[in-house]
Amino acid sequence: MTASDPERRMQFLFQLRSRGVTDRRVLDAMERIDRGDFVRGTFADRAYEDMPLPIHCGQTISQPSVVGLMTQALAVTARDKVLEIGAGSGYQAAILSQLARRVYSVERHRRLALSAQSAIEALGIANVTVLAADGSRGLPDQAPFDRILVTAAAEDPPGPLLAQLRIGGIMVLPVGQSDHVQRLIKVTRTEDGFDYDELRAVRFVPLIEGMGEE
Ligand code: SAH
Repeated sequence: MTASDPERRMQFLFQLRSRGVTDRRVLDAMERIDRGDFVRGTFADRAYEDMPLPIHCGQTISQPSVVGLMTQALAVTARDKVLEIGAGSGYQAAILSQLARRVYSVERHRRLALSAQSAIEALGIANVTVLAADGSRGLPDQAPFDRILVTAAAEDPPGPLLAQLRIGGIMVLPVGQSDHVQRLIKVTRTEDGFDYDELRAVRFVPLIEGMGEE
């Protein structure tokens, strides 16, 4: 956020805190990364409101408080290699870059993957790679991951993503049908299997198999 606008910044952070984002490291990361750099055109002046906004290819940049709550639930440490499914604008990946060692973010629309990568590079962030690929298969070449964050809703946690989570690792994802209220869940991989915690109701665009048209 631009330093010239301290009031906007205060309000943005206040909204996040009042909606339950209390982790200092997450708040610091969200203060450093300006959401305005990831929202273009008509909606740019609404970048600091706590609402999802349209981006290209019929997709959305998530609501900031949901980005904060998901990032908080992921409990990222500085040693972690993180996989995000659904790069969209690149905003969530940029936040993760501040907390993790390495971030891979997969996007099925090439156009979005390119613009997300360039928005991230323009900020001088060097530990994020955005790839145009079908994220429902994960990213086998770079697996296993310490943390996986899915920002599009599947009916159930995709098997390949569960398989690519390291033991002790955490995955946060929305599950449920796309035109219904979905549940945000946290999956922890243990020695013997997976533990599931339900976090809250959310609404995300659907996770769609295969590549997008543009
Ligand atoms: N995290 C994004 C918001 C993403 S919206 C941000 O910070 O802006 C969800 C994104 O998931 C959309 O861009 C959509 O194209 C993408 N998506 C849906 N299914 C996918 C799949 N199978 N693989 C990769 N990306 C997918």
